[in-house]
Amino acid sequence: MSTLSIRDLHAAVDGHEILRGIDLEIASGQVHALMGPNGSGKSTLAHALMGRDDYEVSSGSVTIDGVELLALPTWQRAEHGLFVAMQYPVEVAGVRVRDLVGAAIDARGGSSDGLDAAIEREAERLGVAPQFLARGVNVEFSGGEQKRVETLQLAVLDPRFAVLDEIDSGLDIDALGQVARRIEQLTEEASLGVLAITHYARLLTELRPDRVHMLMGGRIVASGGPELADRLEVAGYDGLATELGVDLRVEVSTEEADPFKDPTLDNSPFADPLA
Ligand code: ADP
Ligand code: MG
Repeated sequence: MSTLSIRDLHAAVDGHEILRGIDLEIASGQVHALMGPNGSGKSTLAHALMGRDDYEVSSGSVTIDGVELLALPTWQRAEHGLFVAMQYPVEVAGVRVRDLVGAAIDARGGSSDGLDAAIEREAERLGVAPQFLARGVNVEFSGGEQKRVETLQLAVLDPRFAVLDEIDSGLDIDALGQVARRIEQLTEEASLGVLAITHYARLLTELRPDRVHMLMGGRIVASGGPELADRLEVAGYDGLATELGVDLRVEVSTEEADPFKDPTLDNSPFADPLA
């Protein structure tokens, strides 16, 4: 039994603070859903957790069983059991899924015995056609194929915690069922802990969440059971924000501070009214 614990996480992109104090605790086998409008910081959280280098974490902590991940490079975070399925997976020409997963297993000192059989088995369960295993990862994959193959990598790598950034986007209804069911099985068979970022309650009917969190303006503004996702379906983000009395978006100041500006100018009676 493991715990992924996120405490007061603040992160900025391009000098703008996007995450403004995130607290989350996920135990093995649990599914937590994270929902929120476009631009609220969901993907920023996924990137900050995995340590993408243009995301500056200014404070907070992220631990798995007490081990601080924020001090570690990405590959060591993976070694400690964290997996992130990206919203927009990267194309890697010339590197097949087998090569990628094999390298990840080597890096953590594991054995690749039986890897080919495991990949084949998962491909069958997830409806991944063999030609996608023969190509460079994500090269000319449709959105749906990318998400199936992300799930395949997750199943084969067997991490302790998975952050799934819109794993349901681009999936048709049958593929959504297959992917969600496989992840649900992993939570039961392998005690995988999941943070599922999604817009749609549809995913959550298959992948039943223990908790649902609403992210708005870089903060978790509400947490509850699955009924919170149902409330969202009815009210929309705008309606829910009004119900909760919160600001929907991160306000990002676009005005550059001018160090040479005359401080008296703002109140000047001669200021150009059209400026
Ligand atoms: P979500 O996934 O919830 O739709 P994101 O985390 O992708 O939102 O984005 C949150 C905010 O951060 C947005 O205003 C977005 O424009 C900004 N942002 C995210 N990533 C970058 C980046 N690499 N460079 C500049 N701005 C970014
Ligand atoms: Mg996103």
